Amino acid sequence: MALALRPNCEYCDTDLPPDDERARICSYECTFCADCVERHLRNVCPNCGGGFAPRPIRPHAEWRPGLSVAKRPPSSQRVHLSFSADEIRAFSERISAIAPAQR
Ligand SMILES: [Zn+2]
Ligand SMILES: [Zn+2]
Repeated sequence: MALALRPNCEYCDTDLPPDDERARICSYECTFCADCVERHLRNVCPNCGGGFAPRPIRPHAEWRPGLSVAKRPPSSQRVHLSFSADEIRAFSERISAIAPAQR
Protein backbone atom coordinates (compact mmCIF):
# COMPACT_ATOMS: atom_id res chain seq x y z
CA MET A 1 0.00 0.00 0.00
CA ALA A 2 1.43 3.35 -1.08
CA LEU A 3 0.69 6.65 0.59
CA ALA A 4 -2.33 8.41 -0.92
CA LEU A 5 -0.45 11.74 -0.88
CA ARG A 6 -3.47 13.83 0.12
CA PRO A 7 -3.66 17.23 -1.55
CA ASN A 8 -4.22 19.63 1.34
CA CYS A 9 -3.72 20.50 5.00
CA GLU A 10 -6.76 19.35 6.97
CA TYR A 11 -6.50 22.39 9.24
CA CYS A 12 -5.84 25.44 6.99
CA ASP A 13 -6.62 23.82 3.59
CA THR A 14 -3.36 25.01 2.02
CA ASP A 15 -2.28 22.94 -1.00
CA LEU A 16 0.33 20.28 -0.25
CA PRO A 17 1.48 18.82 -3.59
CA PRO A 18 3.47 15.56 -3.51
CA ASP A 19 6.82 17.38 -3.59
CA ASP A 20 5.97 19.84 -0.82
CA GLU A 21 8.47 19.54 2.01
CA ARG A 22 6.06 21.23 4.44
CA ALA A 23 3.70 18.21 4.45
CA ARG A 24 3.43 16.28 7.72
CA ILE A 25 1.60 12.99 8.21
CA CYS A 26 0.57 10.79 11.14
CA SER A 27 0.65 6.99 10.97
CA TYR A 28 -2.83 7.02 9.34
CA GLU A 29 -1.71 9.62 6.83
CA CYS A 30 -3.77 12.41 8.35
CA THR A 31 -2.07 15.30 6.54
CA PHE A 32 -1.23 18.81 7.73
CA CYS A 33 1.25 21.56 6.92
CA ALA A 34 4.29 22.01 9.17
CA ASP A 35 3.02 25.43 10.20
CA CYS A 36 -0.29 24.07 11.57
CA VAL A 37 1.43 21.11 13.24
CA GLU A 38 3.67 23.54 15.10
CA ARG A 39 1.33 26.47 15.78
CA HIS A 40 -2.05 24.80 16.27
CA LEU A 41 -1.57 21.09 16.92
CA ARG A 42 1.46 20.82 19.24
CA ASN A 43 2.56 17.88 17.12
CA VAL A 44 -0.62 15.96 18.10
CA CYS A 45 -2.83 14.59 15.32
CA PRO A 46 -6.38 15.83 16.11
CA ASN A 47 -7.89 12.72 14.51
CA CYS A 48 -5.91 9.97 16.23
CA GLY A 49 -3.72 11.53 18.95
CA GLY A 50 -0.47 10.32 17.37
CA GLY A 51 2.57 12.36 16.38
CA PHE A 52 3.74 13.57 12.97
CA ALA A 53 6.68 12.97 10.64
CA PRO A 54 7.67 14.69 7.39
CA ARG A 55 5.90 13.13 4.40
CA PRO A 56 8.45 11.58 2.03
CA ILE A 57 8.72 13.04 -1.47
CA ARG A 58 7.55 10.69 -4.24
CA PRO A 59 10.11 10.96 -7.07
CA HIS A 60 9.28 12.89 -10.26
CA ALA A 61 11.65 10.67 -12.25
CA GLU A 62 10.81 7.02 -12.92
CA TRP A 63 14.07 5.68 -11.43
CA ARG A 64 12.48 2.23 -11.18
CA PRO A 65 9.78 0.91 -13.54
CA GLY A 66 6.28 2.06 -12.60
CA LEU A 67 7.37 4.08 -9.58
CA SER A 68 7.06 7.84 -9.95
CA VAL A 69 4.55 10.55 -9.16
CA ALA A 70 3.28 10.33 -12.77
CA LYS A 71 2.84 6.54 -12.65
CA ARG A 72 1.37 6.56 -9.12
CA PRO A 73 -0.39 9.93 -8.96
CA PRO A 74 -1.41 11.63 -5.72
CA SER A 75 -4.95 11.67 -4.34
CA SER A 76 -7.12 14.60 -5.47
CA GLN A 77 -9.66 14.16 -2.66
CA ARG A 78 -9.37 17.05 -0.22
CA VAL A 79 -9.83 16.16 3.46
CA HIS A 80 -11.13 18.46 6.19
CA LEU A 81 -11.28 18.22 9.95
CA SER A 82 -14.58 17.52 11.68
CA PHE A 83 -13.58 19.15 14.99
CA SER A 84 -13.76 22.79 16.06
CA ALA A 85 -10.61 24.86 16.68
CA ASP A 86 -11.47 25.01 20.42
CA GLU A 87 -11.93 21.27 20.62
CA ILE A 88 -8.62 20.69 18.85
CA ARG A 89 -6.80 23.13 21.15
CA ALA A 90 -8.02 21.29 24.26
CA PHE A 91 -7.22 17.89 22.75
CA SER A 92 -3.69 18.92 21.71
CA GLU A 93 -2.98 20.45 25.11
CA ARG A 94 -4.02 17.29 26.90
CA ILE A 95 -2.25 14.77 24.65
CA SER A 96 0.96 16.76 24.01
CA ALA A 97 1.91 16.29 27.67
CA ILE A 98 2.30 12.56 26.96
CA ALA A 99 5.35 11.37 24.98
CA PRO A 100 4.36 9.92 21.57
CA ALA A 101 5.65 6.45 22.50
CA GLN A 102 3.49 6.45 25.65
CA ARG A 103 0.23 7.49 24.01
ZN1 LIG B 1 -2.06 23.97 7.61
ZN1 LIG C 1 -3.86 10.81 12.75
